[in-house]
Amino acid sequence: MATKRDYYEILGVPRNATLQQIKDAYRNLALKYHPDRNKEPGAEEKFKEISEAYAVLSDPEKRAAYDQFGHAGFDQRYTQEDIFRTTNFEDIFREFGFGFEGSPFEDLFGSAFFGKEFTKRRKRGADLRYDLYLTLDEAAKGVTKVITYKHNKACERCGGSGAEPGSGFSTCSKCGGSGQIRTTKRLGAFGSFTSVSTCNACYGEGKKAEKICSSCKGNGAKVVEENVEVEIPPGVDTGSQLRLAGLGENGPGGSGDLYVFVHVKEHPQFKRDGDDIYVDAEISFAQAALGAEIEVPTLFGKAKLKIPAGTQTHSLFRMKGMGMPNPHTKRKGDQYVRVIVKTPTNLSDKQKKLLAEFEAASKKGGIFDQMFR
Ligand SMILES: [Zn+2]
Ligand SMILES: [Zn+2]
Repeated sequence: MATKRDYYEILGVPRNATLQQIKDAYRNLALKYHPDRNKEPGAEEKFKEISEAYAVLSDPEKRAAYDQFGHAGFDQRYTQEDIFRTTNFEDIFREFGFGFEGSPFEDLFGSAFFGKEFTKRRKRGADLRYDLYLTLDEAAKGVTKVITYKHNKACERCGGSGAEPGSGFSTCSKCGGSGQIRTTKRLGAFGSFTSVSTCNACYGEGKKAEKICSSCKGNGAKVVEENVEVEIPPGVDTGSQLRLAGLGENGPGGSGDLYVFVHVKEHPQFKRDGDDIYVDAEISFAQAALGAEIEVPTLFGKAKLKIPAGTQTHSLFRMKGMGMPNPHTKRKGDQYVRVIVKTPTNLSDKQKKLLAEFEAASKKGGIFDQMFR
């Protein structure tokens, strides 16, 4: 293989070019070397070269690797397939007004860059979503849940092939086993182009079952109800997602994933703010004045909290490490206790008398003042 030219040079942009400059340069060159317009020898090669340069320079990660290592080091890290895989030429060409399907591009990018794999690429099954509702207690401690859902699963009888066990396959007569139908169209004086589409008789498989599977009727998959045990780690919050690989819908290219979306329900007593928990605790008027040790609820059982003498109502006390565990840092948040001083009601005569004496004693020149004079 000839020495590769510098990607920046190919697109004619400076090394510090912005993404927009790179895209503009690629658009101009792509219009010029479009295989449909440019029939000169070498135009197709040129088109591939500029497309490769664009695929690398438009991807920040690949561009950084290329800047750092140059062609030699870059080519060791990325295969041709890697280079083109993350760039969606289909979208770019649509944006340029080229069209993609059934155009020379599909052929070019399909077979020239990926071999038969690209055009024959088999679709993976869809991902599924399951919404799981947890209590705050479950979220705090972690829990194992069994979830029940339905999905399209590869047929166990035929292993997904759609053929009755023991029976064979015959080559598809429509596409001759390639899985593709090629149609060549003439474009007047401009030559011709070949479009490639998936064979609709065998769905791109190139073969057909001689006898279809009695369990799935040849589909290769069946809708089944599934019970899956899901382990929820401590500390999850609404918005947390768990991915169960391969438990989504079955497809010819493998199964999609099942995403479990976690929702944590509101708790009647505890309020959550990230990893911290807020809770109210009532104390008596005397406890607030004299100080006390009270018992407060936490997500992990009851705990003691010291209230200093002279505590005002609605004061906030922090209980370190008594909040929610953080699934990433493995540390626990704090619990904040808001103490509410309760005004006593339904007083007995004795209580009334004592409080009256207390009130009098609180005033200058009150009854106790006189007593000790
Ligand atoms: Zn089957
Ligand atoms: Zn076929």
